[in-house]
This record gives sequence, structure tokens and C-alpha cells, in this order.
Amino acid sequence: MSYIIHEECISCGACEPECPNQAIREGETIYIIDPERCAECVGSHRSSRCSEVCPVDAPHPDPDYPETREQLLQKWRRLHPNEEPVPGTY
Ligand code: SF4
Ligand code: SF4
Repeated sequence: MSYIIHEECISCGACEPECPNQAIREGETIYIIDPERCAECVGSHRSSRCSEVCPVDAPHPDPDYPETREQLLQKWRRLHPNEEPVPGTY
């Protein structure tokens, strides 16, 4: 399930460099997550980095993008074709 950034976002930019999939970018009013790139940090971290670093708890799972962990891992593999996922993250 991709994460989505809610309107509480204060555009501090802290999450952008933390995303292992380059899924986050600055939008017109708040930061935005690309659901084609967000894999809930499966394959890279044990929990969602954007959610951990956000000072206002703006990123949350987006129910519009239901995905199994296997599907999230497949997404990670598409984005990192020459890498192996970090053990314990999938
Ligand atoms: S949950 Fe992980 S992969 Fe998804 S946007 Fe946040 S940091 Fe990036
Ligand atoms: S860390 Fe939180 S407040 Fe800062 S840009 Fe990301 S979502 Fe917005």
C-alpha cells in the first residue's frame, strides 16, 4: 500500500532524502508520494522512513493502493534491478 502525505505537511523536506525509492517530491502546496515508487519501504527498511522522520505525522498508508508485501517486494525489485533486498525488511 503506497503511503500518501496528508495536508498537515509543512513542506519541511525531511522525508524526501530518506526515501529509498525516490518516491517523494515537492508539490505545489505539500510534498507528494508517487504510488508507482512507494513500496512502504519493503526491501530497504523495517518501517516507513518518511513516517518516522516527519515532524507532523503527515505520511499515512493510502487505502486506494492495496498491495500485499509480495507485491511491494516486486515493486522494490523493479526499482532496484541489480540489488538484493535487505534481510528482515520484507
Ligand atoms: S514509505 Fe518508504 S518507500 Fe514509501 S514514500 Fe515513504 S520512505 Fe518512500
Ligand atoms: S517530513 Fe512531513 S512535513 Fe516534512 S515534507 Fe515530508 S511529509 Fe511534509
